[in-house]
Amino acid sequence: MSNDPAESPEARIARKLTERIRSEGVIPVSAFMAEALFDPVAGFYATKDPLGAGADFITAPEISQMFGEVIGLWAAQAWIDIGSPGHVQLIELGPGKGTLMHDILRTARVVPGFLNAVEVTLVEASPALKMVQGRVLADSPVQISWADRIEKAPDGPAILIANEFLDCLPVRQAIRSGGVWRERCVGLHPEDDTRFAFVPGPVLSELDIALIPHSLRGLPEGALAEMRPGDRQVVDALALRFARHKGRALFIDYGPAEAEPGDTLQAIRAHEKVDPLDRPGTADLTARVDFETLARTALELDLDVHGPQPQRDFLAALGIAQRTKMLAGKVPEKRDVLLRQLERLTGEDQMGVLFKAICLSSEGLPAPAGLSPFAEKS
Ligand code: SAH
Repeated sequence: MSNDPAESPEARIARKLTERIRSEGVIPVSAFMAEALFDPVAGFYATKDPLGAGADFITAPEISQMFGEVIGLWAAQAWIDIGSPGHVQLIELGPGKGTLMHDILRTARVVPGFLNAVEVTLVEASPALKMVQGRVLADSPVQISWADRIEKAPDGPAILIANEFLDCLPVRQAIRSGGVWRERCVGLHPEDDTRFAFVPGPVLSELDIALIPHSLRGLPEGALAEMRPGDRQVVDALALRFARHKGRALFIDYGPAEAEPGDTLQAIRAHEKVDPLDRPGTADLTARVDFETLARTALELDLDVHGPQPQRDFLAALGIAQRTKMLAGKVPEKRDVLLRQLERLTGEDQMGVLFKAICLSSEGLPAPAGLSPFAEKS
């Protein structure tokens, strides 16, 4: 039955997960998520281009070129902040269709010397999206290479950008049950073994408990807390890198400014929320980013932290309203479209408040454009 050439991608993932659960027992939520997103043949990202108006979900750079334009100016300013080095790695994590990088490079031309110094590295796991990125960036004025993980990007001073990257890193979940923390796992449904179900798994070790956000460790019976080992790995890699060479990283994503309890795993298929365990591989799975733990981890590793700040405030400080006005002045028939795009990016009940920007930097650099120092809650 395995590797039947006629097997559909959807059936392949369900079969692989079922076989794994039958042989290993229940698996952590993160293992389910990793398989559903990145199975090389049938994973959600591995096979298709899920981004855009007609696809499963839409991101800020796909909503409006203005997003990439102001981020492009932010990146050029960050290059000046790190001392305008003659060679700089411009690294993007999870570049999607390459639209953000395309808009960044187009805009950053206005800053003399920046593009001459830049080499781009795209960190991308999906073969399908790498192809899209290659096409979109085919005419770019700078050298573009790919790496499959951040640790493999060439050494040297760096500016790093990541929009909606952290939210798709596999998340683990802990539940407080019987006075201990257990891993929340995925198993086969007790009444229908063609379906998956959440089940309590093994008791967490002290090492794992250290991944639970600090303020949530004392939660009562029944509570659920998320652990984000992927964020930790990214921050570790940046801390090593930025201690050797100056660098500055910007993350934009969705999630609360302060750690919150609860299950935030969500699945989106064709712009609709669906059950995360239903038909793995056919929906995008993400979980909210915990900006507080991200910031605290970075501070512990001697990085400087600015933000998190709502996307609305960050983009406003970078001049997105002026940019909208200018473009609308040039192309008046686009005015309404541009205003709608601005509203989607910055509106309070749109992406303006739930989405946040945070910047991690080598110690002692000037403050980044548009963000204030991380304010620790006492
Ligand atoms: N930044 C883009 C795309 C966001 S979707 C935008 O804003 O439109 C998430 C992106 O991260 C996709 O390109 C996905 O393939 C990539 N990705 C997710 N996990 C990854 C990982 N562990 N390593 C490399 N790329 C990853």
